[in-house]
Amino acid sequence: MMNQEIAAGLKLPRLEQGWVWLVGAGPGDPGLITALGLQALADADYVLFDALVDEKLLALSRAEKIYAGKRAGVRSCKQDEISQLLVDLAKDGNRVLRLKGGDPFVFGRGGEEAQALARAGVPFRIVPGITAGIGGLAYAGIPVTHRDTNHAVTFITGHGIDGKLTELDWAAVSRGAPTLVFYMGRKFAGEIAQALMNAGRAPSEPAAIVANAARADQEVTVTTLGGLAAAAEKAPALAIIVIGENVTLAKELSWLAPQSV
Ligand code: SAH
Repeated sequence: MMNQEIAAGLKLPRLEQGWVWLVGAGPGDPGLITALGLQALADADYVLFDALVDEKLLALSRAEKIYAGKRAGVRSCKQDEISQLLVDLAKDGNRVLRLKGGDPFVFGRGGEEAQALARAGVPFRIVPGITAGIGGLAYAGIPVTHRDTNHAVTFITGHGIDGKLTELDWAAVSRGAPTLVFYMGRKFAGEIAQALMNAGRAPSEPAAIVANAARADQEVTVTTLGGLAAAAEKAPALAIIVIGENVTLAKELSWLAPQSV
């Protein structure tokens, strides 16, 4: 558990009764949780967790654990039910940890949960996490920016709450930043690649699919924009797609040995 010398040395705040901490667990490797996140695991009475959170982290906590995410075959919790549960547990005087994959404020509805807490007058703290679109790429040896390849990056979700391809000004997206990082992009990889090529991005442009990033079963596929649709069909479901010259750096920088997560 959290080394108390470290916690004291860092003067970490504690998760107090009646509070909710919205904490990012990082993209996979349990070692990527923050010190504040570990402290909250030690202090919490309740942990509401997502499907993407590593079981080894949950095993550290003596709290009551409640699954509050979406997973194939399991009834998915409705967002307002989760928010209401957070409010109710906190109002009952519990220390509540809401543990989410990656960063809670990046395509993870953490903003909506925080709004529900704010509106209900429940005190809360946001503990950012390492997001898959940055840390997951790092585990594939792909720097999200590099002076030689890109001075900007755009983060995009492939689909919205309705499950449909995100409506975007693809011409603007294509011109906007050399590197594009897609969350939830696998389902519509073909449509996304086509829209970008229609908007002028070259089919030969490097692209990669980083699946199960920072997990023991991480799988990196390096392809091109033109080859993205076919590659996506073969890739595991949990995947980040990155398009841009920075992908070529993986050749030199892939550092993750198999089974080292
Ligand atoms: N809040 C999370 C993102 C949640 S959206 C974060 O900051 O990382 C869920 C999407 O994130 C998935 O569909 C996938 O595109 C991406 N994702 C999350 N974890 C991932 C992982 N370990 N490997 C690859 N993609 C991941």
